[in-house]
Amino acid sequence: VSIPTSPPTVWTLIWHRAGRVTDASLELLGEARRVAGLLGIETEAVVLGDVDDAALVDVAEHGADRVLIVASPQLVRPATKPATAALAQLIERRAPRLVLIPETADGRDIGPRLAARTGHGLVADCAFLRVDPDGAVIATRPAWDGMVSQRVRVGTSSLVMIAPGVFPPRPRGNAKPPVVERIVLDGLPKSDTELLAAKRLEPDDLELDEAGTVVAGGLGMGGEAGFRSLEKLAAVLGAKVGASRRATDLGWVDRSALVGQTGTTVRPSLYFACGISGASQHVLGMHESQVVVAINSDPNAPIFGIADVGIVGDVAEVVPALTDAFERALGGVES
Ligand SMILES: Cc1cc2nc3c(=O)[nH]c(=O)nc-3n(C[C@H](O)[C@H](O)[C@H](O)COP(=O)(O)OP(=O)(O)OC[C@H]3O[C@@H](n4cnc5c(N)ncnc54)[C@H](O)[C@@H]3O)c2cc1C
Repeated sequence: VSIPTSPPTVWTLIWHRAGRVTDASLELLGEARRVAGLLGIETEAVVLGDVDDAALVDVAEHGADRVLIVASPQLVRPATKPATAALAQLIERRAPRLVLIPETADGRDIGPRLAARTGHGLVADCAFLRVDPDGAVIATRPAWDGMVSQRVRVGTSSLVMIAPGVFPPRPRGNAKPPVVERIVLDGLPKSDTELLAAKRLEPDDLELDEAGTVVAGGLGMGGEAGFRSLEKLAAVLGAKVGASRRATDLGWVDRSALVGQTGTTVRPSLYFACGISGASQHVLGMHESQVVVAINSDPNAPIFGIADVGIVGDVAEVVPALTDAFERALGGVES
């Protein structure tokens, strides 16, 4: 199969479900455009398998100059093996300047395989991309469990994985209709995995970074009992529980609840910071929340500097009082 060559561009791999492009992919398109602009080159979105026209317009509006659609009967989810083979061929042929990969389950599955297959470098957990005056692309990522920040020079066709929520999606532009190139690949290997069942997620099953409301606790919660009270508040609000590093280090709550530089980046509509001081490493993971409510007994706690609503008080009193008040106000309505 011949894949035409093209000048180097910044690629974004596009994940889609039921015809809809995932938010994690749309966020990276904006970042791809920013980096490509600094490099003076174009952006390309790479879509595996067929998507409908509305999805293509979505991709163009979020920053793709061109869309490459890779078509093959093998590229039906789950398609780890054929997807890796297809992308490896494309990368070798086209030599993109860099490849941005949404670091979701699909990205974590395919990214490292692509690195092994193509021999190109891979930067995981990328938090920031910079272009130096000499055209070098530098990716910043935490290392050693967040103890150090690593800067990595990104070579041609390097793979850069970026978690959902790290970059805000670019506001939709008045995009021209997308320029679409279809590449038909024959002879891809068959998938060796099979989807046996799919279950729609209940709000409870949402990941922390998908929740509309996050109720987070820190050292000020005082212990596991404090977190039980946060869980009650979260249940009333239909929220997920988050935590500071102090609380996860002490084992008061599972590490998956960690918000911040070494945890999850969240951007919910509403974020409660309860007994959290507002250390920069925590704030990094939540400062783009739409409304931040901080509850802290210290009126000088730094968290009040970024809070939209500040409550100076003891979480042992304020959290149960808020829970009761919300319960009454919401009147048992499912949120
Ligand atoms: C490399 C590195 C990476 C890190 N990554 C992260 C990260 O991803 N996420 C993260 O969260 N941290 C991270 N940290 C740790 C971070 O620096 C802070 O130590 C941590 O966020 C502090 O957690 P805290 O706010 O719960 O505790 P503290 O800073 O001790 O604050 C506790 C707060 O609770 C208040 N308080 C106490 N009692 C009460 C009460 N009864 N009622 C109300 N308020 C009360 C206090 O006034 C205080 O403001 C990292 C640190 C390093 C060095």
